[in-house]
Amino acid sequence: MVVANQKGGVGKTTTTVNLAASLALHGGRVLVIDLDPQGNASTALGIDHHAEVPSIYDVLVESKPLSEVVQPVPDVEGLFCAPATIDLAGAEIELVSLVARESRLQRAIQAYEQPLDYILIDCPPSLGLLTVNALVAGAEVLIPIQCEYYALEGLGQLLRNVDLVRGHLNPALHVSTILLTMYDGRTRLASQVAEEVRNHFGEEVLRTSIPRSVRISEAPSYGQTVLTYDPGSSGALSYLEAAREIALRGVGIHYDAQQAHAGAQNDQQNMAEGIQ
Ligand code: ATP
Ligand code: MG
Repeated sequence: MVVANQKGGVGKTTTTVNLAASLALHGGRVLVIDLDPQGNASTALGIDHHAEVPSIYDVLVESKPLSEVVQPVPDVEGLFCAPATIDLAGAEIELVSLVARESRLQRAIQAYEQPLDYILIDCPPSLGLLTVNALVAGAEVLIPIQCEYYALEGLGQLLRNVDLVRGHLNPALHVSTILLTMYDGRTRLASQVAEEVRNHFGEEVLRTSIPRSVRISEAPSYGQTVLTYDPGSSGALSYLEAAREIALRGVGIHYDAQQAHAGAQNDQQNMAEGIQ
């Protein structure tokens, strides 16, 4: 599952790590791939990612096996992380001259033999080669949308990129999930944005939205997800609920690529037309 939105600060990383922890706490084996040079997902999961740590950069650029960089996440059984270091900042440029530059992550994942129920990929806030690698490697896209003005601006470009990757490199790719983040029910703006998103995307939007919560934003500074930092908080409960919705929809469990492809093409066209 590729967590992408080229807009910065919309909750990609927060969603990746907290959904991953929720799925692991439900008994799944889950790998988080940190594909952002900022390394925020690695930090939030309490994974060391200083410059010498073997990282996703080595996998993408040096063809190191994914198994050699994956680390278990302390505190959450069944949760693993492939960390990002600052080296990854150079990868956008270094990848350009490499063979099969768009499909290096896909190959690494295909060669990874450990049993897993879910892989979540945290993308950087851009549509460059790192995000393209994620889209080529993924089965589906999860777009977190912050309930603020401008939320939908720029989404058309992301949807067009998903279309392009589907057309040329990954026929099964589709936008399966939209998650509303930092929702503040007290403001009219948040409910207006939520309504607009639901009108555009319909079924893909999870019924659960994630509230704005101080506990969610505090957790990373302790190297924790909100699920271990404050399991009873509204933020933790909403991510658990969102994970339950995803699991129950069967996303990623009984995945029928052919059927998804046919359905996704229609959805995608409607979405791309609706949002420019
Ligand atoms: P970037 O584009 O830089 O990678 P991002 O899309 O990954 O950003 P996050 O880093 O997850 O976004 O979130 C941006 C900021 O908002 C962080 O400081 C995070 O702690 C905070 N935040 C995210 N979700 C919530 C929430 N539900 N309630 C309160 N704060 C939140
Ligand atoms: Mg991030």
